[in-house]
Amino acid sequence: MQKVNVEEELVHLIKLQALDSRLYGLRRERQSKPKLIQDLEVRRNEEQAAVKALEEKIKASQVKRKQRELDLSTKEDSIKKFQAQLYQLKTNKEYQTMQHEIEGQKADNSRIEDEILVLMQEAEDLNKEMAKEKELFADAEKHLNEDKKKIEAEMALLDGEISTLEAQRNEITVLVDKKILTHYEKVLAGKDGVALSPVKGKSCQGCFMNLPPQVINEIKMKDKIVTCDSCARILYIENEEDA
Ligand SMILES: [Zn+2]
Repeated sequence: MQKVNVEEELVHLIKLQALDSRLYGLRRERQSKPKLIQDLEVRRNEEQAAVKALEEKIKASQVKRKQRELDLSTKEDSIKKFQAQLYQLKTNKEYQTMQHEIEGQKADNSRIEDEILVLMQEAEDLNKEMAKEKELFADAEKHLNEDKKKIEAEMALLDGEISTLEAQRNEITVLVDKKILTHYEKVLAGKDGVALSPVKGKSCQGCFMNLPPQVINEIKMKDKIVTCDSCARILYIENEEDA
């Protein structure tokens, strides 16, 4: 088995970790972007739906009002008819019955007129509401159009930075011993982008567990790659005085 130069491997791994830390940060940022666009789309769609719902409400109110206006004119016609008939009636009783009928119809009409007034007020309120809702919709649409472009530009920029770092990363990984790299990659993926841990004050800075003197000695000997028993990260001493 070919012996690895631990000191050299660690130099590569430290460079690799620096790149990976930046890559993890950039990828996290990149991943958060589509959700921002999605949120803008959701807001736009909600405002659009609110405008539509209000349109339906206005339409229903108009239909109701037209119906009431029709009822009113039908009843007015029938009152006129009754009033014309009034003079042709023979008996006082017939006259009174007809008179009573006319009064009833007039009372109905007065109620319908009140309803129409209420519906007119309602239409006015709904139109005001609609003007506000349309403003909200326009604002949501404007945000979607403008911010989406901005976010997409940011995503493209991040994609570019990520590819650059990935290319730099590939230049280093080919230099690292295969077995060590495999371990590194595994811990990197499992520990959210941190596979390497410096030792400070006799503890692993990845998990803050105290390291036995034996382990510290092994790291100092640079005879093999030493990993933390508790978090599996590859240990190295950044500053001899700190360890
Ligand atoms: Zn640890």
